[in-house]
Amino acid sequence: MSDILILAEFTGEKIAKTTAELATCGARAGEVTVLVLAAPGKGNALAAQITTGLVTSVLVIESEDFARYSVAAAADAIAQIVLERRPAALLIASSAFGKEVAGRVGVATESGIITDAVDVAADLTATQVVFGGSTTVHSRVSHGTAIITVRPNSVTPDLAPSTPVISHASYVISDSAKLAEVISSEPSVQGGRPELTEAQIVVSGGRGTNGDFGPVEAFADSLGAAVGASRAATDAGWYLHSHQVGQTGKMVSPQLYVACGISGAIQHRAGMQTSKTIVVINKDPDAPIFEIADFGVVGDLFAVLPQATEGVRARKS
Ligand code: FAD
Repeated sequence: MSDILILAEFTGEKIAKTTAELATCGARAGEVTVLVLAAPGKGNALAAQITTGLVTSVLVIESEDFARYSVAAAADAIAQIVLERRPAALLIASSAFGKEVAGRVGVATESGIITDAVDVAADLTATQVVFGGSTTVHSRVSHGTAIITVRPNSVTPDLAPSTPVISHASYVISDSAKLAEVISSEPSVQGGRPELTEAQIVVSGGRGTNGDFGPVEAFADSLGAAVGASRAATDAGWYLHSHQVGQTGKMVSPQLYVACGISGAIQHRAGMQTSKTIVVINKDPDAPIFEIADFGVVGDLFAVLPQATEGVRARKS
């Protein structure tokens, strides 16, 4: 069986669900080992959460350097593991952190990388959706370990229980990975909403909100959704740039994406076109975003969203 490594991501003390998604892809190609890179004393609790997704083993590496030297230390340790084991593949979530780790490990191990895959087949062929969703690309790494980053929510995780063997290893981080030190960090205030790239449902607002995201947020909260925004909205200062969806924002692929007052420019579509179901609310019936909608409402979002929010709340109660 091929050796497939997966990098677990976690927030605080909770393993991200991307781990099960990556494991599902990895298990098609071979035996999955999840790498948990944690602060001293934190690794076992994280490893114990990996109980689904066809995982054969978990390798825990604990070091203070991961917090202190961040991505450089993580990439350094993973590169050492890759050079030692020569796995067939290393699968990583397509987060900013994940893509930087992938790039660094690729250089250090002279391996090819593919980013932003939406699927990985048993022969490690990756599927990417490019040019604003207009083109599907299938590609394979031809040199070294196949390093592939996979977009969160692209793959339905196999939630069959697994009881992986947990082992520990330690690596000395090289001096070159210690050139920049993290002095302090503060987790961003999330509020009660899920993280944008991991959310099952995303409700986004654009220029059509005219700066009032109240109805968008209320509808998102009724569904337990994350809030996204077009660049027109973030550039206007109506919503934080960290919530921008699109080519120069975040890539999302939720089960349900609701676009409110967004025209559907190719740069916006590039970040959400792989959503499983797309619902559009726009007062212009000719808005290009209707071309990719599964369900569309031609109407004023300030009239439609409050009714939709009321409808969801009524059904819940
Ligand atoms: P508009 O295009 O102005 O559309 C507003 C829509 O709201 C219209 O369709 C209108 O009919 C509708 N509307 C107005 N009022 C209402 C109402 N009351 N109720 C319902 N509907 C209403 N954009 C991104 O989003 N993400 C990116 O990452 C991104 N990256 C870019 C990178 C580059 C290099 C460039 C050049 C552009 C990028 N853009 C990006 C910008 C992109 O081209 C568009 O300008 C932007 O997406 C438009 O945002 P919008 O749809 O909110 O605004």
